[in-house]
Amino acid sequence: MSQRILVTGGAGFLGSHLIDRLIAEGNEILCVDNLFTGSRRNVAHLLDHPRFEFLRHDVSFPLYVEVDQIYNLACPASPIHYQRDPVQTTKTSVIGAINMLGLAKRLRIKVLQASTSEVYGDPAVHPQPEEYWGNVNPIGPRSCYDEGKRAAETLFFDYRRQMDLGIKVIRIFNTYGPRMHPNDGRVVSNFIVQALRGEPLTIYGDGSQTRSFCYVDDLIDGMVRLMQTPHDVTGPINVGNPGEYTMLELAEEVLRIVGGRSTIEYRPLPTDDPKQRQPDIDKAKSVLGWEPRVALADGLERTVEYFRETLGATS
Ligand code: NAD
Ligand code: UDP
Ligand code: UDP
Repeated sequence: MSQRILVTGGAGFLGSHLIDRLIAEGNEILCVDNLFTGSRRNVAHLLDHPRFEFLRHDVSFPLYVEVDQIYNLACPASPIHYQRDPVQTTKTSVIGAINMLGLAKRLRIKVLQASTSEVYGDPAVHPQPEEYWGNVNPIGPRSCYDEGKRAAETLFFDYRRQMDLGIKVIRIFNTYGPRMHPNDGRVVSNFIVQALRGEPLTIYGDGSQTRSFCYVDDLIDGMVRLMQTPHDVTGPINVGNPGEYTMLELAEEVLRIVGGRSTIEYRPLPTDDPKQRQPDIDKAKSVLGWEPRVALADGLERTVEYFRETLGATS
């Protein structure tokens, strides 16, 4: 049945893909975004769609609208963006969560929170199951994001316990794909853009740190499945691709796909950069019947294709 769905952060990378999926399924979408890191370009193809509406609004202020479901994705996600105005990052996560929970409570509707693998910090348990409480520095440069997202999870579970609100918490692991911001500093977009421009690929540290990369379509599928679960399913549920790669391996894979003459250049490792990260996805498999389908090489090829077109590169 068609629903009126609020997507906060809908003009961002993940939000715009989520909206495409929800529109294709026949729903009516209210996209709320303050365009801090998102862009009208990401939803330009929808602006004339009869079931799409865009509202420029900051979720750290109250929002009174009438909808049937909420996906709360509003928050800058890449370190250079969330560290630009760290106080605002915490406000977006914490006050934004309070406002979306207040809205969901008034309307008696379900609300999904886009949480993150960053709640595990620099993990001492590997791979990370949902039961692991994490290893997060509360006062470092990443804390505005990590602790903001942790506090948002706390709020979601307290609204659940106090008000029996329908909550869904998804812990998203590194996700990549078309519409990533070319300058947002994340490793996949950096490497692809650098390779396409024939510039050196910048590896932070010695490149032995690991991440697990999920293609955006797989991630969105897991997110929509979680929203569709019954009231008793709250999460948190990890959604990500368990394939684990060092940054050096990722650089080599990007160079193989793009070709060209780029070299590798080593830069200092940022403070509190997690050494390893890999999701334990047993819950996503058993509760959501979900697992990733797109292999890294295929997803990277599609992403390279997108950046080739948008950068107008010829290499
Ligand atoms: P993104 O930066 O592309 O999108 C975030 C969107 O939120 C942007 O459009 C931005 O303008 C908007 N926004 C920021 N602050 C806002 C505010 N105060 N009010 C309204 N809108 C605001 O990032 P993304 O990768 O699409 O991430 C979306 C969500 O998923 C975020 O909550 C992020 O924490 C989470 N997440 C993403 C990843 C990933 O790998 N991409 C991993 C873990 C979690
Ligand atoms: N809120 C909102 N839209 C609504 C209902 C509430 O933005 O439709 C905000 C409201 O401003 C409040 C927050 O959500 O600050 C939490 O609401 P709740 O009802 O849980 O708390 P209270 O208003 O009692 O502090
Ligand atoms: N990284 C890198 N070169 C870059 C950008 C990032 O080596 O140009 C590293 C970064 O230090 C981290 C990993 O790649 O170890 C993933 O970084 P990203 O910012 O994409 O995600 P996060 O650290 O939030 O998982």
